[in-house]
Amino acid sequence: MQVALDDYVWAAGVATDLVNTAPEVWHGEDHLPDLAALAGFADLHSIPSPASDLRAVHRLRATVRNLIDHPDREHLITGASSLTSPAGHVTLLADGTRWAVAPQRGATISDLLSLICGIAILGAVQTLGVERFRACGAPTCQGAFIDTTRPGRRRYCMPGLCGNRVNVANHRARFKHRDA
Ligand SMILES: [Zn+2]
Repeated sequence: MQVALDDYVWAAGVATDLVNTAPEVWHGEDHLPDLAALAGFADLHSIPSPASDLRAVHRLRATVRNLIDHPDREHLITGASSLTSPAGHVTLLADGTRWAVAPQRGATISDLLSLICGIAILGAVQTLGVERFRACGAPTCQGAFIDTTRPGRRRYCMPGLCGNRVNVANHRARFKHRDA
């Protein structure tokens, strides 16, 4: 696999999805509980899943979450740089149009995800700035995300889910007021 060095938008989507599989986001239920779930996650993002190492992925998930939760520029750059340690050589994508990096031989799925998350964070810091690392705006949600939208006004870690939860809560609150 090769990861385009300028494709931080895709990479940030993977990093965001990864941190939001954590048990604290799902009331204690891990959404990456086993190797089958991990293979499904990789598949969903078109990431090959060679040698799988679930515990390393869980550790990586916690590391990435910690970085998003403490969006200090130096901390993000240092942390993200060490996430890229599975990088092997720099190359060009198959069509020759963009810089890319290939992981070292024998890289595991956690190595690949680490590399992707490192590129995600470095790209987002460079292009968008540290204010794009945020906690979910839904009061009942413990999720976090990297906002790569153009206007930078994303509010929820899983917009379809958390945005709807907030809408439903607001709707209920309005009705309560009317009835009172
Ligand atoms: Zn959320």
